[in-house]
Amino acid sequence: MNDLEPLHPTIAAFPIAGGSLLLGGIPLDQIAERVGETPFFAYDRRLISDRVALLRRHLPKAVALHYAIKANPMPALVQYLAGLVDGFDVASAGEMRVALDTALGPSVISFAGPGKTDKELVQAIAAGITIDIESPNEMRRIAEHARKAGKSPRVGVRINPDFEVKGSGMRMGGGAQQFGIDAEEVPATLRELRALGLEFAGFHIFAGSQNLRADILQEAQERAIELALSLAQHAACPMRYLNIGGGFGVPYFPKDSPLDLPAVGKNLADVIEHRLAPRFPDTRVIVELGRYIVSEAGVYVAKVVDRKTSRGQIFLVTDGGLHHQLAASGNFGQVIRRNYPVAIGNRMNERPSEIVNIVGRLCTPLDLLAYKVELPKAEIGDLVVVFQSGAYGLTASPVNFLSHPLPQEILV
Ligand SMILES: *Cc1c(COP(=O)(O)O)cnc(C)c1O
Repeated sequence: MNDLEPLHPTIAAFPIAGGSLLLGGIPLDQIAERVGETPFFAYDRRLISDRVALLRRHLPKAVALHYAIKANPMPALVQYLAGLVDGFDVASAGEMRVALDTALGPSVISFAGPGKTDKELVQAIAAGITIDIESPNEMRRIAEHARKAGKSPRVGVRINPDFEVKGSGMRMGGGAQQFGIDAEEVPATLRELRALGLEFAGFHIFAGSQNLRADILQEAQERAIELALSLAQHAACPMRYLNIGGGFGVPYFPKDSPLDLPAVGKNLADVIEHRLAPRFPDTRVIVELGRYIVSEAGVYVAKVVDRKTSRGQIFLVTDGGLHHQLAASGNFGQVIRRNYPVAIGNRMNERPSEIVNIVGRLCTPLDLLAYKVELPKAEIGDLVVVFQSGAYGLTASPVNFLSHPLPQEILV
């Protein structure tokens, strides 16, 4: 064992017994038996709880922690998280239903996202959740529906900041965007909001996702808070919440190092204490996270159904593929294709002995789950595990492509 290469930190987070990966304390082959078929996704409760505990330890006490349901909307997982986080962020009526089915009340559910339909707005107003507006037209439609329903919804303004966050895997603020209201238009929007009789509840600033650099996140948080301070003076009522987004990244690839969470937490505590609290002592700061909470707790498991050699390269052909785990194939927003951490889940004690390509069963060369990775020799029937599959896995994949059945998902 001693001469084995150190495992990727994401793989090392899972215990091993008798050569098998354990999920929720259960050996992988037993989970596969219980599920009854491959491929499947499995999410480990303990790793999710550990991650939330880590966030609680390092983020300031006063900060509310919200889960962005789009990262993984599996109802059992969202129910589980309802007992751990302070609120949910939803981006559709479907996600709103999942959130409203939990014990967390509507007051801590907020709805952001461009293109909300009238039907969704009517449902959100009826449910009493907070709506973050993405445009002036959306604000006017909310006012109209609220008037018809005789309700007074809590409305937040999503700001498209006048700064950019470098180093994000996906930039969602700064420059021209479909998200939010340009910072310079916010004062006029707040005036109109008041004239329309809507109740201003707070600001939402989400600048980008998948950031592993603490220094950049710290700067983004500082700038978001400064921007909110300067714009809040244009609001008629006090800013009850300030959602500063999240963007905390996870290490997908071999050279990625985990985010320095203690540094981010400490800096945020300083900025809140010295900048925000003196002027807005009652404003609740919200951090909303998706992948940071669930990505590392999830695996995608597929069975090897064929092994073949083509011009010197070994291919492990699995019963899974990019129709379930698009991101691992490199086709979900990545510029350069890199391998997600993978393992042969029933040969965790064996030494890597061959270089293989792991492919899915779709008729496209894009369906590559791992390229030239060194693994123990796998046989037909072995279980390939793709890590970092707890977020943006199944629901971010083209599941109907090639008409294969949907995989199961379990929370263990
Ligand atoms: C997608 C999204 C998130 C979650 O992003 P992660 O990178 O998964 O943490 C948070 N807030 C908003 C507004 C989003 O659209």
